[in-house]
Amino acid sequence: MRLQEVVKDERRPREFDPREYISTWTEKDLLHGKVVDAWVIIFRTRGCYWARASGCSMCGYVNDVAQEVAPADIGHQLDVVLRKHSGQPLVKVYTSGNFFDDHEVPPEIRERILRELGDRCDKVIVETLSHLLRVDQLERAVQLADQLEVAFGLESTSERVLRYAVNKVWGLPEHAKAAALCHEAGASVKTYLLVKPPFLTERESIEDAVQSGHDADPYSDTISFNPVNVQSHTLVDRLFRRGEYRPPWLWSVVEVLERTHDLKAHVKSHPTAGGMVRGAHNCGKCDRAVVNAIEEFSLGLRKDFEDLRCDCKAVWSAYREAQGFMLGPSDPLAILET
Ligand code: SF4
Ligand SMILES: [Zn+2]
Repeated sequence: MRLQEVVKDERRPREFDPREYISTWTEKDLLHGKVVDAWVIIFRTRGCYWARASGCSMCGYVNDVAQEVAPADIGHQLDVVLRKHSGQPLVKVYTSGNFFDDHEVPPEIRERILRELGDRCDKVIVETLSHLLRVDQLERAVQLADQLEVAFGLESTSERVLRYAVNKVWGLPEHAKAAALCHEAGASVKTYLLVKPPFLTERESIEDAVQSGHDADPYSDTISFNPVNVQSHTLVDRLFRRGEYRPPWLWSVVEVLERTHDLKAHVKSHPTAGGMVRGAHNCGKCDRAVVNAIEEFSLGLRKDFEDLRCDCKAVWSAYREAQGFMLGPSDPLAILET
């Protein structure tokens, strides 16, 4: 079975009310060098077109989308969520897909979202696949928000990793083109890169993330390293249940951040489910301290990780060596325990 079919085979579409947004919360982020409250809104749409066709191996967003969502439904979600604004100057808009896909977010509702949020917030961040971005959409969008940032899930700059591990068929060339469009229009660019897609060993995944960070740096204002977390009904979930995938060690995330310190882009990471078995984790004893350190680093509140210590750092080193002997990415500890 080909990777594209295996990924699709794991999907379990469910029914949702198209008038209910998925989630909203407030978190800390940087704006003009200062730590501020950032408002996150996840709208429910019909979801990412690529996830409907096949999808990325780690992406569980498709679990939350509705089958069909009319523009009026998204408008209703916006009306409801706007009442929750409490002065946050920065807003991040996600759709479990692509903000600039006209089939997912029709132009009239995209304009309304940008206008309403642009009126309330100093900076608006939206996310889309690079090849879906058109110059006319972008020029209109920058008129509606004082500061616009477009986030792209590049994931890796290695064609091999994108094709055989992530199941994505667009890479650095498309990213560079979209980033140039953004910069010409006056928008900034955030680049998401993965730490440890499936089928890569711990060591390979560190090298891939570090290399990808350097390759993407010329096209990025911010680079955010996303440690893969195990989401339901994904290929990663299937491998995880078979002991063939372990999310990255937090020590690996720390190494990636240390080795991309020289980039001109702002480098950050917010490990989703950090410290939990389905997220990036260490031994359990040091996880909270290491996650906190990564968050502090991302907010510019610490420069390095030299003060972090735990006995499990030696286990992490041995783990990386052991995978080399096993000639594969299986989880050596899971195999020893079963
Ligand atoms: S990671 Fe992004 S591009 Fe890939 S399936 Fe999910 S939403 Fe679509
Ligand atoms: Zn530890």
